[in-house]
Amino acid sequence: MAGTFLAKQLCQDFAVTLVDSNEYFEIPMATPRSIIQPTFAEAAIIPFAEALPQVKHIQGCLTKLHPDCSATVELASGEQLHLQADLNVLATGSQFNNSLMRGQKQTKQQRLAFYQSFADQVKKAEKIILVGGGPIGVEVAGEINEQYPHKQLTIVEAGPRLLAGTANKVSCYAAKDLSRRGVKILTQTRLVHASHPPSCILNHTGQAKLSTGDVLDYDLIIWCTGGQPNTQFMQAHFADVLNAKQQIQVQPSLQVTGYSHLFALGDITDLAENKMAWHINGQIPVAARNIRRILTSKQTPLKHYRAKTNNPMMAVTLGSQKGVVYLPIIGMINIPFITKMAKAGHMLVPKYRKELGLSSI
Ligand SMILES: Cc1cc2nc3c(=O)[nH]c(=O)nc-3n(C[C@H](O)[C@H](O)[C@H](O)COP(=O)(O)OP(=O)(O)OC[C@H]3O[C@@H](n4cnc5c(N)ncnc54)[C@H](O)[C@@H]3O)c2cc1C
Repeated sequence: MAGTFLAKQLCQDFAVTLVDSNEYFEIPMATPRSIIQPTFAEAAIIPFAEALPQVKHIQGCLTKLHPDCSATVELASGEQLHLQADLNVLATGSQFNNSLMRGQKQTKQQRLAFYQSFADQVKKAEKIILVGGGPIGVEVAGEINEQYPHKQLTIVEAGPRLLAGTANKVSCYAAKDLSRRGVKILTQTRLVHASHPPSCILNHTGQAKLSTGDVLDYDLIIWCTGGQPNTQFMQAHFADVLNAKQQIQVQPSLQVTGYSHLFALGDITDLAENKMAWHINGQIPVAARNIRRILTSKQTPLKHYRAKTNNPMMAVTLGSQKGVVYLPIIGMINIPFITKMAKAGHMLVPKYRKELGLSSI
C-alpha cells in the first residue's frame, strides 16, 4: 500500500526503484472475498509493470539494510543484489502466520491458482474454524456464510469481543449479525492446540483444543490473526531503532529516528494507530512532500504526520451486501445500502485501481 502509492507520486519527478518480493501489487481489502470467490482477485492483483509503468520494479527480498542505508536484496534465483540510493523508504508491512492473507514471492498467476485451490478447500469443508475475530476474521466469516449459509462456522477470539480496534457498538452489531446467520462466536477463548500448524493453509480434518477445555472438530482451520512487523532486515545494523514490538521508530516527519535519508511508512512503524490502509493514505502525502524537499535541498520545514491514536474508524464488511462502518463524528453506520456502496459491494478495488490510473475491469 504505502510503497506502491508513494512510488506512484514520486516517479513523476525522481527515478524510483521498488523492491517487492511479489510480481504484483494486491489490494488487500479484496482478499477476504478472493479466498472464497477466486475470480474476484483478477482485478485486485495488478502486476507492478501495469500498476507503476514508470517505476523500476525488482522482484526480490530485502534481507539486510547496511549502516550506510544501502541494501542487500535476494532475487528468486538466489542472486544477491547490492542497491544504493539517495534516499530509501521502508514499507514492508506485516508478516502473517502464512501467505493466505498476503502472498509472498509470487506471480499473479501463482496467486490466482492458490486462491482457486483454497476456494476448493472451503467448498469441501463443512466445519470451519476461524482463528481471530478482528476485521479479517469477521469479513471472512461474512463471505463464507453468504456463499455457504449451511456450513458450521466458528470464530475463536481470545479477547472479550470481536473487532477490538473499533467502537463496542460496532462489535455488538457485527456479532449480532453473524450470530443470527448461524456463525458461532467464542470470545475470551484461545486456541491452545490444533492438529495443523498455522503454516499449513490447505489443511483438512483435525481437532482444535480451546482454552475453555473444549475440543472442536474441523474440516478446515483458517488463521485470521493479526500480523507482526516485517522488519527482520533491520536486525543486523538497525536494531536500536526498533521498539519492543519490532516496529521501526519514526519521527513525525516519517523519517526513521536518527536518519535524515531513511523513511518508514505503514504497518512497520511505531505510530500509535490501528494498522490500516485508511491511515496510511494520510501518511503518503506527508512522506512524498518531505522526500521532495530533501531531494531538492529546499530549506523549508518538514511536514508532520499526526498519528490517529485511539481513532476507532473502521469499515468492516459482512458479505457483499452489507457491513458496518464507524466514523468518529458520525458514529456507526449500518444501513446496508450505504455500507454496500462504501465497501461491501466492491471491497475498494475500483477506488485503488482508479488511483493507479487503471480502469475498473
Ligand atoms: C486481508 C486484509 C484486509 C485488510 N482490509 C483493510 C481494510 O478494509 N481497510 C484498511 O484500512 N486496511 C485494511 N487492511 C490493512 C492494510 O492492508 C494494511 O494496513 C496495509 O496494507 C499496510 O500497508 P503497508 O504498505 O505497510 O504494507 P503492505 O501493504 O502489506 O505491503 C508490504 C509489501 O512489502 C513486501 N515485502 C515485505 N517484506 C519484504 C522484503 N523483505 N523485501 C521485499 N518486499 C517485501 C510485501 O510483498 C508487500 O507487497 C487489511 C489487511 C489485510 C491483510
